[in-house]
Amino acid sequence: MHGLSYTVADTAEAAVARFAEAGGAARYIAGGTTLYDLMKLGIERPVHLIDVSRIDGLDTISTDGEVLRFGSRALMADVARSPVIRNDYPVLSESLLKAASQQLRNMATVGGNLLQRTRCLYFRNGAGSSSMVGVYPCNKRDPGAGCAAAGGLDRTQAVLGVSQACNAVAPGDWPVALTAMDASIEVVGPDGARSLPIDRFYRLPGETPHLEFNIDPGELVTAITVPKTPAGRSSTYHKIRDRESYAFALASAAVAVEMDGSTVRAARIALGGVATTPWRARAAEAVIAGSSLTPDRALDAGRAAFADARPGRHNGFKIELGARVIADALMIAAERTA
Ligand SMILES: Cc1cc2nc3c(=O)[nH]c(=O)nc-3n(C[C@H](O)[C@H](O)[C@H](O)COP(=O)(O)OP(=O)(O)OC[C@H]3O[C@@H](n4cnc5c(N)ncnc54)[C@H](O)[C@@H]3O)c2cc1C
Ligand code: SF4
Repeated sequence: MHGLSYTVADTAEAAVARFAEAGGAARYIAGGTTLYDLMKLGIERPVHLIDVSRIDGLDTISTDGEVLRFGSRALMADVARSPVIRNDYPVLSESLLKAASQQLRNMATVGGNLLQRTRCLYFRNGAGSSSMVGVYPCNKRDPGAGCAAAGGLDRTQAVLGVSQACNAVAPGDWPVALTAMDASIEVVGPDGARSLPIDRFYRLPGETPHLEFNIDPGELVTAITVPKTPAGRSSTYHKIRDRESYAFALASAAVAVEMDGSTVRAARIALGGVATTPWRARAAEAVIAGSSLTPDRALDAGRAAFADARPGRHNGFKIELGARVIADALMIAAERTA
């Protein structure tokens, strides 16, 4: 047992200042749908919680101007059902509606969704009580301990972006859609405010899988911005999972296309469920750009995305599954240009 204190912050500045006072063992908490889980499992052990779920202005969804702007504490459910998002950016709406359950989406925030941690079963099991600590070695939970997934049950693990130290999948659906749409993340910290593109927000595991995000301790995510584009209308989030609802992706693709008749002028493709970070599939985009869109060409593009895949013992099926998810998503997105 250890002590746990709790502060409700009224402003972003107050939250950042409180974090600095409380030191490294503080955590921000928004909807709590992931953090409380990890605390119960003994993986997160904060001594101070700073509740950011009531900060004024951080729940705003703005669809005016050149960019879409989502305050970090906007609820997943509210963003998903926002009329402009539903009609003009279906990839964003669908990525949220295909995540978790309605009850969870009513609590969970779009900022918290970015920072959720992997569902790797070895990461989540074995740290629950002091008698269980270390049952499964995990470099992400306990740096340098080793990786139980290497040579273990790896059916749900990543095939792209993996390292010897970790092959855990990035779990979120929303970050995949944001990656395809070139989103940026706004943060504020002790040194002021900054914005970083989403493809720099996530870190590959390399030798340091415990370092997952390119933000510093104490930096608060304040907003997510997405440049407006007509390609948003011809977009989709296609997700394959073991159950049709309430399950994480085995493979997913966020796709937006611009078409000239039946020819793809440009495509944006990102993958989920198969990689250690939300994964921009630029090789697939290059294959399909300027091509006539046929199911075969779409599958060529899908296969190109996996040229560098490194499967383990039980997850090789994700290569063909992922290629077909891209191909299907391309055909769905193209139909929406009509
Ligand atoms: C059973 C179950 C099924 C799920 N299925 C899916 C799924 O299919 N797809 C999917 O994408 N997700 C899924 N999720 C995850 C769910 O979407 C996340 O739990 C949720 O989005 C997290 O948001 P939250 O506001 O509750 O975050 P919290 O739990 O409050 O916080 C999560 C993390 O973010 C940090 N944090 C929160 N807000 C900020 C901020 N503004 N700035 C800096 N740090 C912050 C916290 O410190 C914590 O580390 C599932 C969850 C559960 C429990
Ligand atoms: S794959 Fe990563 S998260 Fe899973 S046990 Fe190995 S180091 Fe831990």
